[in-house]
Amino acid sequence: MNLVNKEIKAVNGVKIPQVGFGVYKLTKGEDFQKAVGEAIRIGYRHFDTAKIYGNEENLGIEIQKSKIPREEFFIASKVWNTDHGYEATKKAFEQTCKNLNVEYLDMYLIHFAAPGYIETWRAMEELYLEGKIKVIGVANFEIQHLEALMKHSKIQPMINQIETHPEFPQNELHDYLIEHQIVHEAWAPLGQGNKALLENPELKKIANNHNKTVAQVILRWHLQRGIIIIPKSSKPKRIKENIQLFDFELSIEEMEKINQLNTGKRYSHSPTGYMINPLYNKLMKVFIK
Ligand code: NAP
Repeated sequence: MNLVNKEIKAVNGVKIPQVGFGVYKLTKGEDFQKAVGEAIRIGYRHFDTAKIYGNEENLGIEIQKSKIPREEFFIASKVWNTDHGYEATKKAFEQTCKNLNVEYLDMYLIHFAAPGYIETWRAMEELYLEGKIKVIGVANFEIQHLEALMKHSKIQPMINQIETHPEFPQNELHDYLIEHQIVHEAWAPLGQGNKALLENPELKKIANNHNKTVAQVILRWHLQRGIIIIPKSSKPKRIKENIQLFDFELSIEEMEKINQLNTGKRYSHSPTGYMINPLYNKLMKVFIK
């Protein structure tokens, strides 16, 4: 399939495919195989996983099965909260590479700004300088976390993966990221499939104008803001539609109408909530090795 995708350059010049595929909640082996196998078949090359998703090994297997050279893929994973700290991060990185059956990662992110992330970053900087990671960054970082990290870092984070969708466009953080040459990557780009968003009448109207689906309109809105997206789907039809985004363009007026859907509503974890609470993280260590 002659698939069109664009690339966004990180500050160090590494090119990141703008449309990737997220594998969160694809936990059952068979579902994973079908979805990721189909995604690779139709041309996705950027895959977003994390230790905590429990499917790094499955992703490695699908990549191997494809017989497509490793260098053609852009593979991203994340350090989980229970692996913060210099030594623990180095160990977690080795394990992630082993799980994925790769020698290097294209991108490695700190999953949350949980206690210890400054030391985690020091390990990531070293791995980056050794060439074992091509792009280093963070996820779920707010401005105050980025400021604290940058105060203590030799290398600035190159990307921040954050919940972003029309109801929660992250305008302030978005502008901050642009100002600091940090790429904005959206998780939950479709608001985790929430009906309030996917059945919004304004979005339906815009979708009809272009003969596209509401999901495609939302994803196109992200692309026109210069954001990287990693929509997840388990359904072949949707997997295909989520990357067929380069044959139409939203007008300035349409972009503005979508901007007005901002309600400030998150659909998932707050990056300053229990996920970064020291006690919660201590407790998590008992259950997650
Ligand atoms: P999402 O991609 O916004 O939405 C996924 C949901 O939307 C699924 O329920 C899917 O259902 C549905 N969907 C997908 N395509 C659709 C379409 N074309 N039309 C209608 N419904 C559609 O949410 P997400 O999975 O939470 O986020 C995407 C990725 O971001 C994750 O997979 C993960 O890699 C990453 N992520 C990162 C963090 C973080 O903390 N850094 C947190 C959450 C997610 P079906 O599967 O039934 O199609």
